[in-house]
Amino acid sequence: MKIIHKIPEMQKITKKLHSANKTIGLVPTMGALHGGHISLIQRARKENDCVIVSIFVNPTQFGPNEDYLRYPRPFNKDVRMCKKYGVNYVFAPTPKEMYDINHLSYVTVEKLSNILCGEFRQGHFRGVTTVVTKLFNITQPDRAYFGEKDYQQLMIIQKMVNDLNFPVKIIPCPTIRENDGLALSSRNLCLSKNERIRAGKIYRILLRVKKLFHEKKLLSADKIVNYIKNEIRRVPGLRIQYVKICNSKTLDEIKGKLYSPARILIAVWDGKTRLIDNIEI
Ligand code: AMP
Repeated sequence: MKIIHKIPEMQKITKKLHSANKTIGLVPTMGALHGGHISLIQRARKENDCVIVSIFVNPTQFGPNEDYLRYPRPFNKDVRMCKKYGVNYVFAPTPKEMYDINHLSYVTVEKLSNILCGEFRQGHFRGVTTVVTKLFNITQPDRAYFGEKDYQQLMIIQKMVNDLNFPVKIIPCPTIRENDGLALSSRNLCLSKNERIRAGKIYRILLRVKKLFHEKKLLSADKIVNYIKNEIRRVPGLRIQYVKICNSKTLDEIKGKLYSPARILIAVWDGKTRLIDNIEI
C-alpha cells in the first residue's frame, strides 16, 4: 500500500492504472476510520482492481464555528486499517495541496444543499461537492462509495454526478451501527460516557416509530414527526435540530399522509456533538 500526499503523483498513478485497464474504486473519507468506512472499503475491494481511500479533513465543508480543529485525526491508525483491508493507495493531501491560496472555484448543487442539514450548515454541501469533484478529478474512479448514514450528502452527490455527467458510478452503502443502534461516526469519539449512552436512544426511537407506522398506529408525517420530537425531548441532554420526513428520491418534505418511498431524517445535539441519522420508513 502506498501513501500519496501530492496531487500530480496521484494523477500519474490513476492515469497509469487506466491505461492498464484497471478499474478504480474510491472511498472518500475524513479519516478516524471505523466500521462504517471499512464496510465501504470492503465493498470497493470486491468490485474493483484498485482501491483508493482518501483521507482529508476538508476545511471548506466546516462553518466558522464548527469542529474543524476538534475533528479527530488518528492518521497512523487509519493507515494501519487501510493496509489491513487491502487498500492500494491512501491519498492524504494537506489543505494547502487541495486549496491553493488563489482558489476561487466551487461546485454547488442548488436547492438540495439548502434544506435539512444545509439549512443549519451554510456552505457545508458546497464544500462537500467541491472536494468530491476535486477527488474525482484527481483519482478518476470508476466507482465511488458513499454511506447512507449521510443520506442527504449521498443524494446531493448522486445529483451532481447525474447533472454534470461525471463518468463515475456512485455506490450507496448501508449504515453500520453499534450494538445499541447508534450509527458509527468519527464524531462519536467526542462523546462523554453519558452522552454516548443517550446517543443510542435516537435510533431506537426511529425504529419504534417505524413499527408504529407499519402497525397503522401513526400514519401522518406530522404525527410521526411530533412523536419523535416528544420522545427526544424526554431524553435529558439531547437537543433537536431538525426532524423531517422526506421523499427518499427527491428529498421533498412530506406533510400529511405518508407515502413511499419516504425517509425520516434527524439531526440532534448531544452536548457539543451534532449527530445525524436517518431511516427508510
Ligand atoms: P466521513 O469520514 O464521515 O466523511 O465519511 C466517509 C464516508 O463514510 C461517507 O460516505 C459516509 O457516509 C460513510 N460513513 C460514515 N459513517 C458510516 C456508517 N456508520 N455506515 C456507513 N457508512 C458510513
